Amino acid sequence: MKEYDVVVIGSGPGGYVSAIRNAQLGKSVALVEKYSTLGGTCLNVGCIPSKAMLDSAEKVYEANEHFQDHGIGIGSEKVNIDFSKLMGRVQNVVSDTCNGVSYLMKKNKIDVYEGLGSFVDSHTVKIEGKDSSEIKGKNIIIATGSKPSTLPGIEIDKKRVITSTEALKLEEIPKKMIVIGGGVIGLELGSVYAKLGSEVSVVEFADAVIAAMDQEVSKVMKRALEAQGVKFYLGHAVTEVKAKKNGVEVIAKKRKDDSELKLDGDYCLVCVGRSPFTQGLNLEAADLSTDDRGRIAVNEHLQTSQSHIYAIGDVVRGAMLAHKAEEEGVYVAELINGEKPHIDYNLVPGVVYTHPEAASVGKTEQELKADGVKFKKGSFPFKASGRARASNESIGFVKVLADADTDEILGVHMIGPRSSDMIAQAVTAMEYRASAEDIARICHAHPTYTESFKEACLAATEDRALHI
Ligand code: FAD
Repeated sequence: MKEYDVVVIGSGPGGYVSAIRNAQLGKSVALVEKYSTLGGTCLNVGCIPSKAMLDSAEKVYEANEHFQDHGIGIGSEKVNIDFSKLMGRVQNVVSDTCNGVSYLMKKNKIDVYEGLGSFVDSHTVKIEGKDSSEIKGKNIIIATGSKPSTLPGIEIDKKRVITSTEALKLEEIPKKMIVIGGGVIGLELGSVYAKLGSEVSVVEFADAVIAAMDQEVSKVMKRALEAQGVKFYLGHAVTEVKAKKNGVEVIAKKRKDDSELKLDGDYCLVCVGRSPFTQGLNLEAADLSTDDRGRIAVNEHLQTSQSHIYAIGDVVRGAMLAHKAEEEGVYVAELINGEKPHIDYNLVPGVVYTHPEAASVGKTEQELKADGVKFKKGSFPFKASGRARASNESIGFVKVLADADTDEILGVHMIGPRSSDMIAQAVTAMEYRASAEDIARICHAHPTYTESFKEACLAATEDRALHI
């Protein structure tokens, strides 16, 4: 039986990145994946296809709604959409990206086994599938990710009542789509279909969209998506979803007064979160178990109850994000190599890839208040940014929260153009424990969106933003 220093189960961003880092550190590595393509949820049915669709939808929306502002005419009709070509491009992006991971496995001399991995004992993994065999690992890393969740009583038939996985593979643009859940994935996919021409209704239990984010960001997000045609039913609990032959009916109750809401649509997209995936792993054979939320329990070093078995990414506690999984993959590899790595979970940024984008890192105002931390805040609206105005991108703002005494940046929240990239500067600043004044004193190129971060830092320092 072949024995490896490290066996990784699951090839998502947690697993494949950990495999690469282990190989870079001189370990012999096997990567086990049940599907024929590598990359996990993120590359196959998550981050990558959703962003590819967002990009196409954004182009359609720009052409229909904003070209005329630039004096560019497309006639009185809306642009044509060849949806199968659009989706074909999405799949090409996915396969190129997945093939890239296969290339990286070869380059790093990682043995890839295709098949379902399960524990025989705490050092042995059985693979059932194309590469059926048994292998041993001195260390084993579980990176089996997550699957879409549903609500009690709602059956996902994958035809009319669908999850994000099916929404990324539809063969038609729905006339009417009902999205259950106003979180990140619901808003991203809802806004994609709204821009492609669907009538989109979002039903959300909470009284706000992206409720865990900064409250002002949430309000601006709702207004911006409403302007793009998305309808919101907040504070509604879905009680029933009826799949019909050619459509769906969604019934919800308004939490405030119990009044009933009935919506008809072609599809109901259920985006109510994701659950850790451990099915088929036969955890008991390795003396491992899951907690009350189905997650594999780990200590602060991502070790399970067996010190040589680690678990990372969506299958353990914490944010279900690709970059968090990647960080944990690297962390575990370096730990196995005897190093002393560190992850600051407070500095894992969160991004919503709608248009406008939203992003945040660190603490929100709500959290700082709850922790009794005294803070000052500085905001800068994009409508005061020359670059944003030049690009018709003036919705949104950057908000900086800094410690009232030390001026250290404690949180940055933004909604507006290129927030997904801009947040990296905030993460860097916070990693080095910069003060708002430190950033305010750094020269930022003009005209750029990043000047808005500098201005928000100026506003937080001494209320001395220059351009407002
Ligand atoms: P996964 O990517 O889920 O990979 C797990 C892998 O393990 C899978 O390939 C699975 O087949 C395999 N596996 C499971 N069990 C076994 C077994 N027993 N044997 C062998 N193989 C097994 N995150 C972001 O950071 N940014 C985004 O923009 C973003 N967009 C998203 C959009 C959508 C629509 C969705 C659904 C998710 C999105 N996410 C995003 C979340 C991101 O995809 C996940 O956080 C990330 O993929 C988790 O990585 P992972 O390695 O833990 O697991």
